[in-house]
Amino acid sequence: MEVTPNHTQAVAGWAAMDESGKMEPYIFKRRANGVDDVTIKVQYCGMCHTDLHFIHNDWGITMYPVVPGHEIAGVVTKVGTNVTGFKVGDRVGVGCISASCLDCEHCNRSEENYCDKVALTYNGIFWDGSVTYGGYSSMVVAHKRFVVRIPENLPLDAAAPLLCAGITVYSPMKHHGMLQAAGRRLGVVGLGGLGHVAVKFGKAFGLRVTVISTSPAKEREARENLKADDFVVSTDQKQMQTMTRSLDYIIDTVSAKHSLGPILELLKVNGKLVLVGAPDKPVDLPSFPLIFGRRTVSGSMTGGMKETQEMMDMCGEHGITCDVELVSTDGINDALRRLERNDVRYRFVIDIAGGLGCTDTSLSSRSRM
Ligand SMILES: [Zn+2]
Ligand SMILES: [Zn+2]
Repeated sequence: MEVTPNHTQAVAGWAAMDESGKMEPYIFKRRANGVDDVTIKVQYCGMCHTDLHFIHNDWGITMYPVVPGHEIAGVVTKVGTNVTGFKVGDRVGVGCISASCLDCEHCNRSEENYCDKVALTYNGIFWDGSVTYGGYSSMVVAHKRFVVRIPENLPLDAAAPLLCAGITVYSPMKHHGMLQAAGRRLGVVGLGGLGHVAVKFGKAFGLRVTVISTSPAKEREARENLKADDFVVSTDQKQMQTMTRSLDYIIDTVSAKHSLGPILELLKVNGKLVLVGAPDKPVDLPSFPLIFGRRTVSGSMTGGMKETQEMMDMCGEHGITCDVELVSTDGINDALRRLERNDVRYRFVIDIAGGLGCTDTSLSSRSRM
C-alpha cells in the first residue's frame, strides 16, 4: 500500500465543474507511479449511466470537479518495481474500483467490490486521501491489483465497457451458478448496455435467453444480432402470461422505477431474480409472487478483481465484446445528452487518444480558448 503523495504529475482530462454536468477540458494532478502502480495511456473510455448520476450530483455525493469514466482501456506506459504481472506495451483496463483495504474477509476472497473501504475509480477517496479521477482523461495511474489484462483478440474500444457493464452481469451469473447451467432458461429485462452483454454471456454459457423489454421495436435486433431465443414485450399481458413459470433466472437491468411483480411471475418455483439496474426510487415488490413460487430477489454490484479478469478472459475465448458507438472527445457533451434519453446502441465509448491527438499540450491550449 505504498503511495507517493508528494509527487504528482499533470494530466489532461474532461470534468464537470458543477451540477449542470457540462464537461470541459480540465488539467489535474495524479500521483506519480508508485512501486505497486501501473501507468496507463488511456485509449478508450466507455460512458456509463453512472457517469450521468455523478456529473449531475443526483446522489448528492459528487465532489466537483468530477472526471468520470470507469470503463478504461489503454496501454501500459510504466510499471513500478513491485509489479510483475504487467509490462510496458500491455493492453489493459481499469474498471469501477481503484482501491480497497486488501485485508478484510471480502478482499481476501477477491470480492474487493464489497470491501468496506472500497474506493471508486472516480469520485472516490484513495489511500493517500486524494480524490480519484476517472478515465475521461489521457492517462491513469492504477494499483496493480485493480488492473485487468485485455486479451489480444479483443478490440480495446469494444472491450472497454466490459469493465463495468460486462462484470456487472457476469458476477451475479457466476454467483448463481449460471456458468454451469447450459440448457436452463435466463430472462434479461431491459436491452441496454448491461442487458445486451447479459444476452451475449447467456448464449456463451449455453442458456436459453429471453429478452423482456418494453419496446417491441427491439425484437428483431435481439433475435438477429444478439441471438436471443425469445422476446417478450413486458407491457403485453398476453405475451407475459404465456411465459408464466418458464424461467430459471432473471437479470433485471432496468434503472427506471418499475414493479417486480409481473416479472417474478415469469420465474419457475425457486427461480432467482438479480437486480443490477439501480432505480433511485424503491421498486415495487409484491409478496405473493415471491411466496407462491419460493422465489428469490437479490442484488449485485460490479465484481471482484479476480472474476473481472476471468470474465475478460472468457470474452477473449468467445470473442465477446460490447456493441459500441465511438465518440470523439469533442462529442462528449452531445453523447451525454443522448445517453440521458437512452439513445445509444448500446454503449458510447470515447476515443480518448484518437483523431484529436489528445496530448497534454494540445489539450491545455484548447482549454485556454
Ligand atoms: Zn458503470
Ligand atoms: Zn477489504
